[in-house]
Amino acid sequence: PPGLEIPWSPMLSEDHPTVIIGIASGKGGVGKSTVTANLAVALTRLGKRVGVMDMDIYGFSQGRLFGADGPARANQEQKVIPMHAHQVHLVTMSMFVPKNQAVVWRGPMLGKMMQQFFTDVAWPELDYLLIDLPPGTGDVALDVAQRIPKARLVLVTTPQQVATEVAYRAADVAQRAHQRIIGVIENMSFVPLAHGERLEVFGHGGGQELAQTLDVPLLGQIPLEPVVREGSDQGTPVVLSAPESLAAETFLQIAQKM
Ligand code: ADP
Repeated sequence: PPGLEIPWSPMLSEDHPTVIIGIASGKGGVGKSTVTANLAVALTRLGKRVGVMDMDIYGFSQGRLFGADGPARANQEQKVIPMHAHQVHLVTMSMFVPKNQAVVWRGPMLGKMMQQFFTDVAWPELDYLLIDLPPGTGDVALDVAQRIPKARLVLVTTPQQVATEVAYRAADVAQRAHQRIIGVIENMSFVPLAHGERLEVFGHGGGQELAQTLDVPLLGQIPLEPVVREGSDQGTPVVLSAPESLAAETFLQIAQKM
């Protein structure tokens, strides 16, 4: 389509230093948003300047995960000022829709929204911009692949076979669009028990299998731990709320590979 080569924002050009990473999953509920929030915070702990763009339009949750609330505010140039929480700059739908109101836009509107999240937001200088993508292989994920060719992708899956299969379909779309996949993160991999034992609630091997199929690294296996959910519910990602936990440690290790 015409105009596809014109970047929406300088950040999108190939030689701009901001690393843009889309966080994708085949289906909902595998922890994609949780992983996005924690990787963002982990990257700030490594001294990086980090932004999060919540493109999970229907299921937006980054405001809650960061404990950040309130309507969008604009600067003098009428650009939206990202919220700032836990050192992360954040733009999410909750800034634009009243509480408890559903977003009912259709495909083309979503693409427009993403464009506006780039052009109409006063992003500060960032080392990393993480985009929380909607689950599945829908319009927005394709839009990202086509309109932000420099974006790389991280795939989140659980160890479970079905989650892996749908994640593979998401990856297939990305690969057809020539989007680089930097790796797979397996979430909810196991419950850590005493004596180093592991309870594999959702089975075994899904992340490894997906990574092998795609010929990309398995970036890490995040344990299923109550502190992860508690941190999220309290608006402080586990990397900060329980830094001594295995989950927090794993997020930091993954951030180092990004
Ligand atoms: P998605 O974005 O893929 O739909 P979420 O990030 O919203 O998934 O996670 C789904 C639920 O699982 C949330 O309640 C979240 O707190 C919880 N959760 C995610 N990852 C973990 C984990 N590693 N340990 C414990 N709870 C988790």
